[in-house]
Amino acid sequence: MSATADSIDQLREQANEQYWTSNETVSQLAERLGISRNAMYSSVQPMPAGASCMQCDEPLVFTNRTSRTARTATCPACEAQVSLDAGLATPPAGNDLGPGTAVPVAPANGSQSRWEDWKEDAATVPAERVAMIGGAAALGVAIGAAAVKVIRKRS
Ligand SMILES: [Zn+2]
Repeated sequence: MSATADSIDQLREQANEQYWTSNETVSQLAERLGISRNAMYSSVQPMPAGASCMQCDEPLVFTNRTSRTARTATCPACEAQVSLDAGLATPPAGNDLGPGTAVPVAPANGSQSRWEDWKEDAATVPAERVAMIGGAAALGVAIGAAAVKVIRKRS
C-alpha cells in the first residue's frame, strides 16, 4: 500500500465532491470511499455561497451541508455567520449533517417566530460547525487560499 500525495488529493477531491452532491451521510460516504469519518470531514472544502461578507467583503462560503440547507454562510476571513435567507422554511436537523439536500426554500414573509425557533435549534449544534472550522484550520492555509481562488474564478 503506497498512498501517494496524488491519490490522497484525488480521494479528498472525491470526498469533497460527493459530500456536496450526494444525500448520503458522512458515515456512509466515508465507508464507501474507505476513509475515516475524520478524513471525510477534513476533506470537505467550503462551498462558495454566492454572497459577500457585509463586514469585510470576502466571499461567503457554506462550511457544511447543514449550513447550506439552512442558507447560513460563513465568512472565511472574520468567521461571521450570515443568514442568506431569514425566511427559513426548513430548520437544520440536529443529527449528522442534516438532510443534505438543497431544498428550495421559498422566501417566506413574517416568519420571525420560525426564525427564532431555528436560532434555538442552531444553538444546539454548534459543535459540528466548530469541528468543521477546526478541521479546515488543521489542513492549513492552503485550502483557504484554494477556496478563495475557486470563488474568485466563479464570480
Ligand atoms: Zn467577514
